[in-house]
Amino acid sequence: MTASIGIDIGGTKLLAVRLQGQEMVAKELFSTPGEDMVGSVVAAVRELWTDDVTSVGVGVAGLVRFNDGVFVWGPHVPGSNVAVREIVEGEFGVPVIVDNDANAAAWAELCNGAAQGHRDVLLVTLGTGIGGAVISGGEVYRGLSFAGEWGHMMYQANGLQCDCGKRGCWETVASGPALARLGREFIALNPEGQLARLLRKGDFTGETITRAADAGDETARGLVSQVGAALGQGLCSLIAIFDPEMIVVGGGLGSIGESLLGPARRVAADALHGGAHRPLPPIVVASLGPEAGAIGAGLLAQHHIAAEAL
Ligand SMILES: [Zn+2]
Repeated sequence: MTASIGIDIGGTKLLAVRLQGQEMVAKELFSTPGEDMVGSVVAAVRELWTDDVTSVGVGVAGLVRFNDGVFVWGPHVPGSNVAVREIVEGEFGVPVIVDNDANAAAWAELCNGAAQGHRDVLLVTLGTGIGGAVISGGEVYRGLSFAGEWGHMMYQANGLQCDCGKRGCWETVASGPALARLGREFIALNPEGQLARLLRKGDFTGETITRAADAGDETARGLVSQVGAALGQGLCSLIAIFDPEMIVVGGGLGSIGESLLGPARRVAADALHGGAHRPLPPIVVASLGPEAGAIGAGLLAQHHIAAEAL
């Protein structure tokens, strides 16, 4: 059975897994050290290495050129134009693939998760920002290299400032930080309200508000629903462009489920082009959780190495 190592690099963590076939047999979580991104990848691979490993897959949050395995740039990961594939292949002597982290997560959901058995699927990951991946005809669609970065599609002209340096991107209104901002705005207007008492300090996050919503706080539920509506608006555009079989929503914020996806579905159904004459595709929660990216990177490595061997 083919063994591979999968690595998922985000802004604050590096998760490494070893797969035997499709099954995860080992995993380790590392904090992401400073500037030497590829050095931390090499160290993580070495940590999980066994002699039967025949391929390595690396998923990175940001712009990645799959064809030559170069990490081009990302707002949350150090370095630019890093030749990850060349360096890791040189170190271990096995084939290495490098891809965007959402592409890797989508591949895992397709092979083992919520999108199993489907061929035309979009993955939308909601966390600090919005990540995305397109599965078309059962393969990852990358465009020239960077397809699926719809967190930065224009949502509102001259809108809120985005981490990418531009204004009005979709992720400024549908992400963890967007939810936290709505909370801060509400509390500024209602400093004596129940939500202010519940959250106490100004340093809460989107997650704090989703917990308050889960605990039954009506205001927090309203804020989650507002972010869900903004999510639904953007999903409606994606459906108009791609007409997918299904949309899988992942990431930390995506995992909260119906309180977010219910409003998203309603808004998307209302706004959908020709909505009276076509069904809304299923919009479902990802099933593999935070390990999807690392598992998917390992599975993608196996998939491409097997394809090359044909
Ligand atoms: Zn942006």
